[in-house]
Amino acid sequence: IITMNQIHKSYKVGSDTLDVLKYISLDVESGEYLAVLGPSGSGKSTLMNIIGCMDSFQDGEYFLTGQPVHQMNDAQLTHLRNQQIGFIFQKYHLIQKYDVLQNTMLPLLIRGETRKKAEALSMEKLEMLEMDKRIHHKPNELSGGQQQRVAIARALVGKPKLLLADEPTGALDSATGKEVLKLFSQLNEMGNTIVMITHDLHVASHAKRVINIVDGELFEDEAAQ
Ligand code: ATP
Ligand code: MG
Repeated sequence: IITMNQIHKSYKVGSDTLDVLKYISLDVESGEYLAVLGPSGSGKSTLMNIIGCMDSFQDGEYFLTGQPVHQMNDAQLTHLRNQQIGFIFQKYHLIQKYDVLQNTMLPLLIRGETRKKAEALSMEKLEMLEMDKRIHHKPNELSGGQQQRVAIARALVGKPKLLLADEPTGALDSATGKEVLKLFSQLNEMGNTIVMITHDLHVASHAKRVINIVDGELFEDEAAQ
């Protein structure tokens, strides 16, 4: 589902060039559950933004579901992202003025689905995530774990080919974080492809495959296989 060949990303800082991703290659098959593990500043968010078609790069090829991301313009990238990727963030990124149901429907409305269909599909996901009793709550009327479950419902509602999660348990206490990780394992069992970014070895160990990112380079973690 992801094929990256020799991706290079650098920033110009004053007269210096800072290499943030150093000619990295990465293959992720459909159905995988991959964790990218690395310390602060190693390039995790940069990699996540590139995988998520939200950031550009200077060199290399990236194919997402067979489509050449490196050759696309902004409109094509936005379309690809909306169709193929479900995002889950550390801080949930729910829209505060919308309730649970409205937040969950959003990706479908953006795609031009009818309200009726968007509502039916959203209710299905909210039931699966046991949030169907809270559909008229605003995000600030929910616990952190509940907000993350709504964010996961929203990420799933458009049936994306890839779930992309950046520190999904980072804002949760350890028991609630464990529940979210259990949910990720269940979603993967159901066939969802997951790429999770984390700095936490324990969190990464829940994935089926772990890749270490160190100073802009990737290393497969054989011990985790
Ligand atoms: P953290 O765990 O702290 O979130 P990270 O692994 O996500 O770290 P990145 O945010 O990907 O790290 O940053 C990697 C490197 O790129 C850092 O050294 C950072 O200073 C640098 N960097 C990130 N964004 C920019 C930018 N816009 N301009 C210049 N340098 C940047
Ligand atoms: Mg980061």
